[in-house]
Amino acid sequence: MNASPLLLSAVSGDAAAGCAGYCRRCRREHRLGPGESRAAALRLMERLHREGTVDLFREQSRPDPGLSTEVLFGPARGKMFGVLQCCTADGTLRHLYAFSGQYEGRWLVPGWVPPVFDPEDFARVHDPLERRIKEMGRELDSPAISGERRLLLRRERRLLSRRLMLDLHGLYRLPNPRGEELPMAEAFLGNGNMPTGTGDCCAPKLLAEACRHGLRPLGLSEFYWGRENRSGTRDHGRFSSPCEEKCLPILGFMLCGLDGERT
Ligand SMILES: [Zn+2]
Ligand SMILES: [Zn+2]
Repeated sequence: MNASPLLLSAVSGDAAAGCAGYCRRCRREHRLGPGESRAAALRLMERLHREGTVDLFREQSRPDPGLSTEVLFGPARGKMFGVLQCCTADGTLRHLYAFSGQYEGRWLVPGWVPPVFDPEDFARVHDPLERRIKEMGRELDSPAISGERRLLLRRERRLLSRRLMLDLHGLYRLPNPRGEELPMAEAFLGNGNMPTGTGDCCAPKLLAEACRHGLRPLGLSEFYWGRENRSGTRDHGRFSSPCEEKCLPILGFMLCGLDGERT
């Protein structure tokens, strides 16, 4: 399992991590540094290493076997984790914790921030269309299918997949500390083609959760945990900044209105 010696190497990586993004409204970049979130991130790594589970905030005595970190070291590979240090209106420090995307098919794990959308809405939109797309795939695999039917089915499946992605993206609404909220497609800077998984990374989840609970973000740290990713750009225990393709285009909006920010 997660046996590599890591906590020494964890302090390397992008020393200036935190997050930033260009804001259309203010015509400049907004930035949130790491603040003192790094210490909390190191404590989180230490617990992941020692306990081998993400079921760290449970009420029952035994961790849920479905939440073991073993899976992060297998063929599915690792994922990003993030810690947001924030404070309440009366100045009390709080830490929020996130994993990117789902953990073993779950959006919700106790103690970790939820996704930016309502998971019940997601299932309502996703499940029937996904079922239909899979049925079409099975039909396409059948040798008995005619050439004409195959072409039609392929086309229909492509359209349905596209619709599924648009419908799902429509569920994502992003808040910011200014008190605004936008559909993600409007907050996203770029040509409108949002990559799959936009909004599911740690930074947007953490910032949205802080916003919705009136917490002021003070610092963000993200690190990778598990077997290195396929492209070799992420490896175990290394801190890094939010990704350029999905996070950068939405973070400017999400950080707008954060007081005390450095420009
Ligand atoms: Zn990202
Ligand atoms: Zn702004």
